[in-house]
Amino acid sequence: MPTMGALHAGHSALIRRAVQIAKARPVVVTIFVNRTQFNETEDFARYPRTLEADAEVCRAAGATAVFAPAEEVVYPRGMKINAPPLPPVATEPGLEDAFRPGHFAGVCQVVKRLFELVRPSTAVFGEKDWQQLQVVRAMVAQERLDIGVVSGPTIRDPDGLALSSRNVRLGPDDRRIARALYRSLQAAGERSDPTGAEAAMRATMRTADVGIEYAVVRDAETLGPPQGSRTCRALVAGRVGKVRLIDNAGWPMEGTG
Ligand code: AMP
Repeated sequence: MPTMGALHAGHSALIRRAVQIAKARPVVVTIFVNRTQFNETEDFARYPRTLEADAEVCRAAGATAVFAPAEEVVYPRGMKINAPPLPPVATEPGLEDAFRPGHFAGVCQVVKRLFELVRPSTAVFGEKDWQQLQVVRAMVAQERLDIGVVSGPTIRDPDGLALSSRNVRLGPDDRRIARALYRSLQAAGERSDPTGAEAAMRATMRTADVGIEYAVVRDAETLGPPQGSRTCRALVAGRVGKVRLIDNAGWPMEGTG
């Protein structure tokens, strides 16, 4: 299970899921803050690093080992680490791909490299990062890697805010505003047409003072426009103070997504 550390209850739920799936096989949690997937140097520099506490979270959740490599192990000097060619789902939707240029190239590069180093039979990713999950699935298929990709649901605070390592950077006012992301997904779930759902999400986020980046209903797998009876996902991104937050849920809403 690849992570960037600063582990919270969302990560531990995912580790426990990995432990369940693995049965007697070892579960390795990687902790590596990957420079190549950040588009803002400041975001990379300020990313919380809490290795000792993280190791304890991993132990408590039943992980077998923590792999926290130094940068030189992941990207050895002189070794050319090619980012795999990006699948269309990583370049065409106009969502994370557009707002964080280069992000998915960095994600695919590090995930592929971590797969080389750890050689897992199964990899576990959270639905919190829905677009990343679809990108990794597509990359694994495209590269013909013999690795099963398993996902776990988004874990939320009681007020609906999806747990994220970046939430610690939210002040008390920001924190109240940030709830609007989940409320917007709920509002979308009450509308049966994608256009109405998108308008409802934007209105909820705008009223709360979230700086909207996108609020859309898309095909859950291709992340393109909804097609016929295929499964859809509502996806939002916005800025609350200095912090960028993303969230998503099944659409029409099924439970807490
Ligand atoms: P991160 O290190 O936070 O980028 O994420 C490591 C893994 O944990 C990714 O697969 C994320 O999707 C997943 N994850 C992060 N936050 C949550 C959450 N609130 N609920 C479930 N999974 C999460």
